[in-house]
Amino acid sequence: MSPSLPWIAAALDELNSAGLLRYRRESRFLADGRYEMDGRPVLDFASNDYLGLAGDPRLVSAAMAALSDGSVGARASPLVCGHGEWQQRLVERLAAFEGEPDAVLFPTGMAANIGTIAAVCGPDDLILCDRLNHASLVDGCRLSKAKMRVYRHEDLTTLERELAKETSSVRRWIVTDTVFSMDGDIAPLREICEIADRFGAELIVDEAHGTGVLGAHGRGACEALGVEGRIAVRIGTLSKAIGTQGGFVAGSLELVQYLWNRARSQVYSTALAPPLCAAATEAINIIEAEPWRRTRLGDVAARFRLRLQESEIETIVTATGPIVPVLLRDPDAAVGIAARLLQRGFLVGAIRPPTVPHGTSRLRIVIHSNHSNDDLARLANAVREEIQSLPG
Ligand SMILES: *Cc1c(COP(=O)(O)O)cnc(C)c1O
Repeated sequence: MSPSLPWIAAALDELNSAGLLRYRRESRFLADGRYEMDGRPVLDFASNDYLGLAGDPRLVSAAMAALSDGSVGARASPLVCGHGEWQQRLVERLAAFEGEPDAVLFPTGMAANIGTIAAVCGPDDLILCDRLNHASLVDGCRLSKAKMRVYRHEDLTTLERELAKETSSVRRWIVTDTVFSMDGDIAPLREICEIADRFGAELIVDEAHGTGVLGAHGRGACEALGVEGRIAVRIGTLSKAIGTQGGFVAGSLELVQYLWNRARSQVYSTALAPPLCAAATEAINIIEAEPWRRTRLGDVAARFRLRLQESEIETIVTATGPIVPVLLRDPDAAVGIAARLLQRGFLVGAIRPPTVPHGTSRLRIVIHSNHSNDDLARLANAVREEIQSLPG
């Protein structure tokens, strides 16, 4: 057995006494979209399976086809011999879906963010980063060794001021989530693009929660806001609305070739597994063929949000899509209410620091296109009752 490290036990104690210790839970998702906890089915309002595709029989069949072909693992990194027909088919499907000439795959969305930013930005550059950006964007910025300035969430005045102040950098970048994963709001991309134009900066955006959910064709927030042509680098994940796993960048032939050569999380990691590639390709077919999924998602999310507001439950007012944060502020309250909702048959996320700033602990309720109106009404009632029964 490996020796114990006393400082690790102390660090765990400290987390525990601050109410911030996290535990692994064993999850079991059923084929019909429900989730099972201790043998009891509960409704999933926590996962990012926005369009209900992760268990769709068509994705399962597509993955099986790759498996029957004898392809469980990809066997090697893409540049060695890991990029085969399944990966290539997905790349072509993604490029066509995104309206770009080419695309490159990564093992995860996190790897896509880290590898892409570190490859594209360098030590002589300046990066402006929204304070609420996903951890993987922040890690990519750090790894690039660029000079990094963090601006208050969506604070365009500070963004402008920082760009005006700093003129010596070779290249200037603005890095932002398009849909913020914990607040559910959309970055003001049009205004950010205008500022970028004025100061000669380029944008790198993360469409993790936009792909499949927003835009007339489901390409994300950039499509919805009409700024696709102005974004230098658009990064996506296959693990949210697309229902599988992996990350990608769709873009010009040059950008993709550059990332094939220079994005270390792609060069030095085994290619995406064929069953995942096959399932993701099928998911994009479905996203294109069944636009009703994202239309219904938008409608039911808006109705659910309205229901909470009518009950005077504190949500984040700028949130618009399927992510519905209910602010409780105290981490113990968030964990307690999530546990009681689970007993009542609803799985919701309890989000605490360091994922969100101190004093903003919350429930993160995620709406899916296959939730019924009745499910949503019952959850809204349960949330109201639990909040009303909080002491004080
Ligand atoms: C989930 C998420 C990622 C990471 O994607 P994975 O495919 O899960 O690694 C990146 N950015 C944002 C904003 C996310 O929410």
